[in-house]
Amino acid sequence: MIKNPLMLARHLCIDVPKKAVTDDKTRDSTIRHLIERIVFQSTECGAWIEFYPGGISIGSIVEGVEYGTKAYNMNYEFTGAKFDRHIADIEKEAKEIWNDTHGCEDCGPENPDTGYVPINPNCENCMGKGLIT
Ligand SMILES: [Zn+2]
Repeated sequence: MIKNPLMLARHLCIDVPKKAVTDDKTRDSTIRHLIERIVFQSTECGAWIEFYPGGISIGSIVEGVEYGTKAYNMNYEFTGAKFDRHIADIEKEAKEIWNDTHGCEDCGPENPDTGYVPINPNCENCMGKGLIT
């Protein structure tokens, strides 16, 4: 079970510097920065993580879109598996938002509800990859 940022860092296989474990003053901010970096770098969507007293919040913005994924608040203590599952949910949702909003001019018509063009997987212009508008 993960009960604090240090235990989350260990779950993420972060090599926490020894000094950070023993020095109370810098410990929390050092560990948080390490976690923020690894969560951002290890996810395709570049997820964010925030720490609040008693837990964490995770989610992701999507480049070029005004809204992001759902944010997941997780109060300590929680399992590493649950953390991983929410990260996977965020990756999936970020991908869906990307696909719903990043169509190129040849992908097709704008969705009147969102004002964005969804990606057409068969589009020959962007090859179904979409564009940042
Ligand atoms: Zn296209």
